[in-house]
Amino acid sequence: MINSNQEQPSPIPKRVCACGCGIEFQPRRTNQIYLNKKHADYAHNQRKKKQRIGRDVELEKQLRVNDKVLDKYYKLGQKLNLQFPVKLLKTEGFDENLTLRSNKEFFYSYNYAFKLVKQNENINIIIKGYE
Ligand SMILES: [Zn+2]
Repeated sequence: MINSNQEQPSPIPKRVCACGCGIEFQPRRTNQIYLNKKHADYAHNQRKKKQRIGRDVELEKQLRVNDKVLDKYYKLGQKLNLQFPVKLLKTEGFDENLTLRSNKEFFYSYNYAFKLVKQNENINIIIKGYE
């Protein structure tokens, strides 16, 4: 006779939900790592959020490098109204593709605006401080 009250031992061991909630549950499939869809969605959103924050940190880091390089060349060039090849700034980590915003003429960093002008074979950068 089979005792119907007796719980059949599940072949899949219990596990803790992977979303970080700490709830232990009985998986119905071997590849089930979340308690339910709600917990799976939560984990998914947290992961996206983390990636977004990571990306923002990287962007901000690069913008700060940009500003540092712009600062150096702005100070070097402002008295003489010099232009520098953008190549030169790039050797110091400057990335001209990353800017906070732009208008028709200038690209903006935290503290400086710059524009790129083609001169012969070179692309030069003209830097100005915020007014
Ligand atoms: Zn969970």
